[in-house]
Parts: sequence; structure tokens; C-alpha cells
Amino acid sequence: GPASLKASLFWRPGQEVALDFLPGSDLSALLDGPGQGKQTPRGLLRRLLPQRLVDALLPPESAGRKIAELSRAARQQICARIQDFRTVPAGLAGLKKAEACRGGVDTRQVDPYSLQSTVRENLWIVGELLDVTGLLGGYNLHWAWASGMAAGRALALFAGK
Ligand SMILES: Cc1cc2nc3c(=O)[nH]c(=O)nc-3n(C[C@H](O)[C@H](O)[C@H](O)COP(=O)(O)OP(=O)(O)OC[C@H]3O[C@@H](n4cnc5c(N)ncnc54)[C@H](O)[C@@H]3O)c2cc1C
Repeated sequence: GPASLKASLFWRPGQEVALDFLPGSDLSALLDGPGQGKQTPRGLLRRLLPQRLVDALLPPESAGRKIAELSRAARQQICARIQDFRTVPAGLAGLKKAEACRGGVDTRQVDPYSLQSTVRENLWIVGELLDVTGLLGGYNLHWAWASGMAAGRALALFAGK
């Protein structure tokens, strides 16, 4: 979903990523919390995460055991799987899935007010063609419209000369 689309802007092939499935929470403290000992990690976590995700992440040998019966190492392993899950993505899904493209024409090659190319005459470059990429949240559309408007205004002045 949106998280992987955002992460893909920064990821480079071969890099390992660390995923925290409970950002802002301290699972270690939750496991050690009062009254939790009789629960299983699976039971505790399914209130916080989708069941299928919990089952995929938890080590099967400790998922269904009572928390109180788990060794320190087993608890640490559970915390690492949920809050520091390490993986190397196989690759990017490419343009078919992408919502915005990283890269483009170097912004130093256009005038920042008119978006006119400083390298080629009679060329205006806006939107995604430039090396401007926003996170998800409307920034790319905003940039496309704002830069298009700036270039349009500059062109109108240019044409009126
Ligand atoms: C599935 C999807 C979801 C997205 N969701 C969001 C979002 O929620 N928020 C957000 O901010 N951004 C979103 N984006 C990104 C955003 O749509 C783009 O950043 C923005 O549309 C770029 O505007 P642009 O005018 O630079 O390029 P484009 O919108 O790609 O426009 C380029 C136009 O040029 C035309 N064209 C290409 N070649 C030629 C040619 N030779 N002659 C004539 N015409 C040509 C194309 O047909 C196209 O209409 C999304 C993108 C996708 C693909």
C-alpha cells in the first residue's frame, strides 16, 4: 500500500529494509505488562495487527505458547520479527504500479520562476519531467499544476512580447 510506495522512493536495489509493524509501540513492554503472562503472543498481537500477518510473522514455536513460559531469547525474537523485520525486496514493480517517477530533468537546468529551459531555447519543462518527486499525499499533482501554471503565465508574457 502507500507505505511501500513511499519507501520505494528511497530504496536502492540490494538494500535491506527494516520494517516496524507497530510503530510508536513498545512490544517488549507489552509482553512484560501485568496480566499478560497467561496470554499467547498470537492472542495479544491479533488485537493489534491482522491475524494473517501475525501468523506469517510470529515464530511458530512460540506463537501459541503462554507469554510467561517464553524465554527472554524467544521474547526478543518475537519483538525483532514484529518491530525490526529485516528483508531485502526482490525489486521494484516498475511503471505499471508506480504513482510517481523519481528522477528527471535536473532542476538547475530550468529557470525557477518561468520553468523555461536554460539549456534549450523555446522549451518549458514542468511536472514529472523535472527531477521533483513528492511523497504520496497530493504533492505530485500540486507540483504538476503549480509548475504548469507558472510556465503558462511565463509563456503568456513571452508571447505578448
Ligand atoms: C495511478 C496513479 C495514482 C496517482 N495518485 C496521485 C495522488 O494521489 N496524488 C498525487 O499528487 N499524485 C498522484 N499521482 C502522480 C500524478 O498523477 C503525476 O505526478 C502528475 O499527473 C504528473 O503530471 P504531468 O502533467 O507532469 O504528467 P502527466 O499527467 O503524465 O501528463 C503528461 C501528458 O502528456 C501526454 N503525452 C505524452 N507524450 C506525448 C506526446 N508525445 N505528445 C502529446 N502528448 C503526450 C500524456 O498522454 C499525458 O496526458 C498518481 C499517478 C498514478 C499513475
